[in-house]
Amino acid sequence: MAKIAFIGLGNMGGPMAKNLVAAGHDVTGFDLFADARLHFAQGGGRAAETLEAAVIGAEVVVTMLPAGRHVADVVAGEAGVLSFAAPGTLLIDCSTIDVATSREVAEKAAQKGVAMIDAPVSGGVTGAAAGTLTFMVGGPDEAFTRARPLLEVMGKTIVHTGAAGAGQAAKVCNNMILGISMIAVSEAFNLADALGLDRQKLFDVSSTASGQCWALTSYCPVPGPVPTSPANRDYQPGFTAAMMLKDLNLARDAAETTGTAVPLGGAAQAVYEAFCAAGGDATDFSGVIRHLRGEGGS
Ligand code: NAD
Repeated sequence: MAKIAFIGLGNMGGPMAKNLVAAGHDVTGFDLFADARLHFAQGGGRAAETLEAAVIGAEVVVTMLPAGRHVADVVAGEAGVLSFAAPGTLLIDCSTIDVATSREVAEKAAQKGVAMIDAPVSGGVTGAAAGTLTFMVGGPDEAFTRARPLLEVMGKTIVHTGAAGAGQAAKVCNNMILGISMIAVSEAFNLADALGLDRQKLFDVSSTASGQCWALTSYCPVPGPVPTSPANRDYQPGFTAAMMLKDLNLARDAAETTGTAVPLGGAAQAVYEAFCAAGGDATDFSGVIRHLRGEGGS
């Protein structure tokens, strides 16, 4: 069983760390927020009062933090993970961050003898709790092989997508598809309404025809056709519009850096930005259908 430090015990990190504890690993968790530490401790984990206390002696450090600047600071900043981790430690960053920061941090870690993989996830809070996340993993083969048994505790599908940063690249490309396709499906249902076409009939056709996609068949943005979708619970998240906007901003930045044309990715970013600005940031991202109808944010 591995001695693990888990940094970032929020909506995702909390349940992921709990699954590692349940699998018998020796997990010490740390979060800036006392409530997150308390919640982890109440769930059977051991919480540390400082980052240093969590990291010293750990064989593996897992981070699950909001954005690139947090990861850069927590891992490579002053009094960060790399100040306390022994050479040979494995670092698994599960946060969704920009490719450039991920590669920079991996490089700094390697200089200290710490192997890092970027392992962002798909599957949301439900997947984190159930241990059914999908991991997209970038980094050296050896580090991936070491990390795999731990990722299998927290997830169901684990794909080694390439060298450092390739996990983040896969995540940003996937979520750009999702952001665009949710808008496409929403526009189609709004047009169907205007044309007097029954929503269920559109679903019955498109879910088995060339319009088929995950946003339609698993996460349908109108109530009815897919009973588990957030549309059936007034667009309670799920995956918030703010998170979708974060990922589309990452896609836009990556496209700019690489000189890639992403006209629909850019348009989707603008739609979610407007939706969030109208108050929809805490709403499920599929609530964009109401925004497109001119019904505002939340
Ligand atoms: P969250 O805000 O609930 O959790 C992040 C935690 O990090 C917070 O508890 C915060 O206190 C802690 N933190 C911030 N700075 C810290 C520091 N310096 N030291 C220690 N702890 C610190 O966010 P989340 O929903 O758990 O998301 C985490 C990551 O997972 C994000 O990158 C997000 O994009 C990604 N993600 C989230 C979802 C989702 O559905 N929530 C799905 C896929 C990916």
